[in-house]
Order: sequence, then structure tokens, then C-alpha cells
Amino acid sequence: MAIINNPKESTCRCFAVINHEQVLRTDGSALDFHDLTVLKDWCVSRNYVFDFFEEKQWNVCALGLSSKEGLPSAYTFDTIRHGFSIDSPEETLCLSRAKAIVAWRSMTHYCSACGGVLKDHLGQTARYCIECGQMFFPRIEPCIITIVSRKDGKILLAKHVNRSREMYACIAGFIEAGETAEQAVAREVMEETGYKVKNIRYYGSQSWPFPSQFMLGFTCEYDGGDMHLQEDELADAKWFERGECPITPPPGSIAYRLINNV
Ligand SMILES: [Zn+2]
Repeated sequence: MAIINNPKESTCRCFAVINHEQVLRTDGSALDFHDLTVLKDWCVSRNYVFDFFEEKQWNVCALGLSSKEGLPSAYTFDTIRHGFSIDSPEETLCLSRAKAIVAWRSMTHYCSACGGVLKDHLGQTARYCIECGQMFFPRIEPCIITIVSRKDGKILLAKHVNRSREMYACIAGFIEAGETAEQAVAREVMEETGYKVKNIRYYGSQSWPFPSQFMLGFTCEYDGGDMHLQEDELADAKWFERGECPITPPPGSIAYRLINNV
């Protein structure tokens, strides 16, 4: 997992990311190592801060950008989320990894034990404190996401208060310390809607590096209770027929798979 900061060239998949977007060539094709060199030179010419790393074992080489002002005309941007909708698990893994590690490196500079400066570990994707030696590894934060179904086949979808669009999605939340994922499913559904659920079953998972979530998907069934919305989280929640849902998350997310049963 060694990070090599200055490879002369690379056969790894190459990415350049800024926030929730990635750089692509204007024809929509993926970048190669030469493109990363061009983009690095562009950053230098504009005095933009950038980060660059390669992980050969992950087949990932990535540039973290701090600005996209004045991007060379040969390039354009697209959302990383859109990249996840391409039906290639290997491609999605590498893109997700690049995004996650760029975000982790941008937020991991000082030791949380003693305040010392962190340096890249030469043998692993990690940073260590030059004062006390404490190691810091990329962190993932486990979350649950669940689709609640009723005996009549309808599913529960909720509109989050922070969503600008009229989008309805699954109930989701972070797993709290001490909980199992199944307990987190039951708690989140109860907290956000007032509903008790049963038959909680694992469905699948997805890396969600915005910046570091790991989504564990579950199905479950309504088991009683009256709707009582947690108003600081949800603006609305309703039961829908699967074929008659409002605007829901697009392909590329586990929410899409749960809602559309794919
Ligand atoms: Zn330290």
C-alpha cells in the first residue's frame, strides 16, 4: 500500500479530484499519467496548492486539486457520483479510493495525540507523528441505509431537510459506538419516523467517500407505530408503490439499488 509521491510514470488508473468532482478529458475519457503531469504543471503555473500520490497495490494514482479556475481547455469536470454509475466495479473502486485518500490526506496534517506534524509513512498508506510516532490510517465511517417495506408492498421514502431538491430517499444514518448495524437500522427508523421495524436483513454495501462514509444497506419490514417525523432531519416521509416513486437517487448509489430492488 506504499504511497509514492513522485513516480516518474505510472500504469495505474489516474484521477484528478476536487471536492465532489473529477477532471476528465473534454471527450469524457479518463485521464492518464501524462494528463496528471499537465495538470500538475498547470497548478504550479497558477500557484495552486495540490497533492499527488500513487498507490500501486490499489492501481490508483491521484492528484488532489485546490481550485478549478482556469482549467486548461482540454479538460472538463464531472461529478464523482456520476462516475459511480458506470457499470465497472474495478473502476468504481479506484475512483472511490482516489476520492477517499485525497480527502483523508487533505484533513490529516497534525497528530491528535500531541499536536505534532505528520509525515507520510513509506511502507503503508498512513501518516505518522514525527514527535510521538502515533500512526494515522485512512478512516471510514460506517453508516446504515435501509428500505422499509410494508405488507402491501409499499416502501417508505423520506425527504431530508437539507436536500435542496424534491428528492425522496432511504432512511440512513451513522452507526453509533457500541451498536450493531442492525441495531442502528432499528434506532434510525424509530428516531426519524417513529416506526418499529422487524426482519432486518443485510442487502449489500458501498463505499461513499463524501468524505469517508461506508454504507451498509439493509431491508426491513414495518412492525408497528405511528408516523412521528424527526423534524430536524426529515421534511416528509411517505409510503410509495415501487413503480410510483417520486424523484429518487439516480443509479450509482446503494439507495438506487434498494429503492428499485436491483
Ligand atoms: Zn504525536
